Order: sequence, then C-alpha cells, then structure tokens
Amino acid sequence: MPEQSRVLSFEDARHLAEEHAAKLSPPQTELVDLLVADRRVLATPILSDRDLPPFPRSTRDGYAVCSADLAAVPVGLELIGEIRAGESVENIPKNLGDGQAVAIMTGAPVPAGADAVVMVEHTSQKDGWVEVNRSVAAGENIVPCGAEAKQGSVLVERGMRLNDAAIALAASAGKSQVEVYKRPRVAVLTTGDEIVGIDAVPGPTQIRNSNSYSLAMQVRKAGGEPVLLPIAPDEPRRLRGLVEEGLKSDLLLITGGVSMGRYDLVEQVLEGLRAEFLFTGAKIQPGRPVVFGRCPRSAPGRETDETYFFGLPGNPVSTMVTFELFARPIVEALCGMFPQKLRFNYAKLKSEIRVKPGLKRFLPAILSGEFEASRVELAPWQGSGDIAATARANCYIVVPPDGELIPAGEFVPILLR
Ligand code: AMP
Ligand code: MG
Repeated sequence: MPEQSRVLSFEDARHLAEEHAAKLSPPQTELVDLLVADRRVLATPILSDRDLPPFPRSTRDGYAVCSADLAAVPVGLELIGEIRAGESVENIPKNLGDGQAVAIMTGAPVPAGADAVVMVEHTSQKDGWVEVNRSVAAGENIVPCGAEAKQGSVLVERGMRLNDAAIALAASAGKSQVEVYKRPRVAVLTTGDEIVGIDAVPGPTQIRNSNSYSLAMQVRKAGGEPVLLPIAPDEPRRLRGLVEEGLKSDLLLITGGVSMGRYDLVEQVLEGLRAEFLFTGAKIQPGRPVVFGRCPRSAPGRETDETYFFGLPGNPVSTMVTFELFARPIVEALCGMFPQKLRFNYAKLKSEIRVKPGLKRFLPAILSGEFEASRVELAPWQGSGDIAATARANCYIVVPPDGELIPAGEFVPILLR
C-alpha cells in the first residue's frame, strides 16, 4: 500500500481521469488516405469548399412548380422542359413563369421562379401539359442552397474520431487525404510469478497471460498502439526495470500486483520511482484496487516529463472493466480526441438482481431478444476471473451502490461492450 492511499467513489475516480485527460496535449499529426482514416482522430478540421447543397436541390422526381399556382387543384400547368440531375446550366430555364412547370429529377437543381416540387405520383402528363392533383407548400421537396452547410464552414471538427458519416463529409469536400493525429504508444505490462506467455506450456499452477491481449485490443479500439512488454515477476528489481521501460511510452498500463497480497509489489515499485498516486482504489466491483497516477520520466526528447500509469487489477474481468472506465479517456486524449463522457444505455431487466450494497457494480450481462422485446440479464459467472462468462456477455449491467434488489422489468443502465 502506498502512503498516499486514496479510494474514491466511481464517479469521482472517473472525473479525475477525465480532468487529467483534458489537460493532455495532442500528439503529432500525419496525412492518411481517406479510405484508411476510419476511426482515426482528425487533427485539422474539414471545411466545406462550397455550399451544401450547392444549388436548391429537388428531393423528389416530379415537377418544379410555383406553389401559388396550386392553390386550387386539380390544375393544368404548361410543361416547359425537363431538368435531370447534373443538367448543364444552359438547359435550365432562367425563370419559371406563372402557370408553368418543369419536370425535375431527384438531385437536380430547382430553377428560379419555382418554390416547390410536386411528386410525380400526384400528377399526370399529356401533350405538353401536366395535371397536378395535390397542392404543395412553398419549399416542399426542396433543400435550399447552403441549408446543410455554408461554404467555409466546419464540416468535421478537430478531435473527432472519424466515422462513416464524417468520412462521407470529407469526401464531399473533395478530401482524398486527411490530417489525423499519430497513435500514442501504450505500454502493457503484465505482472505475476504464475503468468506465462501464451506459447509456453503452463505448469500445473501457472496461468497463460490473457490480460495483455485483452488490453492490446482495448488500446487499439481506443486508438492507441499497444506495446507489449515481457511478463514481470513478483520481484521488485526486475519489475522496476520493466516499469521504467514502460514509462518511456505515452501511457503505461500494468496489470496485476495492485491488491493487498504480500507479493503485490506494483505500488511499492512505483513509489520508488517517485510516482504521484491520483487514486489507489475505486468503490466498484469488479476492479476495486485500480490505481491511477503519474511518474516522472527521464527519456530524452519528450515534450512532457511525466507519464501517466494505471495499475489495473489482474483478474481478467477487472482488467477489462477498469480499462473501459478509467484508462480509455486517457488513451483517447493521447489520441487527440475531444473528452468523451461515459454514457450508459438503458435496457429492461429480464430477471431480478440481488447484490450487497456498497459498491458500484459493472456486471457482465447478456442483452438479447429483438426489437422492443430486447431484455438484459446477468451472465452467470464465477466472479471477476471468469473470462469465459465475459466472452459470452455483450454488455455490463451497472448496479448503483445502494441497490440491493432490482426487480425484473425495471430499466437498468448498461454499458455496451
Ligand atoms: P493479482 O491482481 O495480481 O492479484 O491477480 C489476480 C488474479 O488475476 C490472479 O488469479 C492472477 O492469476 C490473475 N491474473 C493476473 N494477471 C493475469 C494475466 N495477465 N492473465 C490472466 N490472468 C491473470
Ligand atoms: Mg499477481
């Protein structure tokens, strides 16, 4: 136990991680092709190089009309032409006169003088005339020029993680490459005398290292580049050497060795390296002994002289949960991303939950059923070491610290995974 022992509520611990995340400076940038920019974090905002839409756009196949001409229906209008999507400018009527209509296709520019488009379904066409059976309001079926975005306005903000819609916006602004932040390097250090590499044949009391792999996946999903260090034994000198190695990265994640056991040496080793502990526990289950702090580093050529670290409890489910709750915001900030709030979804509980009060719980659960009949229930598990149960789960049910019995049918917060 470090001298600076500090156990926080879940919310306080999360807010502290968010606060520190918000102060991190963004990393360096690189140019990448748009097609591989998915999930990267944008470093330079994407501006619109033209109004969107660049002309008043018809959203229907039909007839561009003057809505005042359709005050009484049915009415016959003189058909003066046709405008297709991409029509050349010289073929577009300069002005639509009273009593006139022009055939128009979806995505085509609406000519001056027309203020609405009537759908083809409400018309019939004969001998240069179109009969319209339904009136339209001014503006109907037209998106005005610049209504979606003005030329020069920000389409995608800096710090946004690019998704399909953002990529589509970049494409519509003619960006075949975008400037994104470089991925931060996140060191992953597993500790424990009983832990062996996954290629080894474990002895009867040994355990294969699974935490480095779940963490590597979580780091990558959050936008970082995992750097797997060798497994550290529960022995201070070797552990210290590997912690020092890990502190050269942008963030160090340590798993195991943060509980109360005689060979849980992580905090002791970090103290020896002049670590500042921001918290040394959170009132949650699984993951109570989670540790967060920062440590001076001596690596040359670094902009900052401190590296943040997490000591995540070694139980595999605790490792996964505590990464999501506390480490993810730091990884995302190191990726240059805007701070994100942790938001829960709500789902209807299939069967009641009974727990002892006192801790906020994040329990592996299964959301099943379809449409409005979807329900969530706890995944049967053997506690926070049960990776198999967690692999069957697709979310965590969040149980408040004062909840002893949550009846079936109640809406409960869940964290999707
Ligand atoms: P600790 O937090 O070191 O007390 O470890 C708690 C439990 O998690 C023990 O049962 C460990 O064997 C297990 N454990 C620790 N590290 C790992 C790992 N990297 N992979 C799988 N299990 C682990
Ligand atoms: Mg251990």
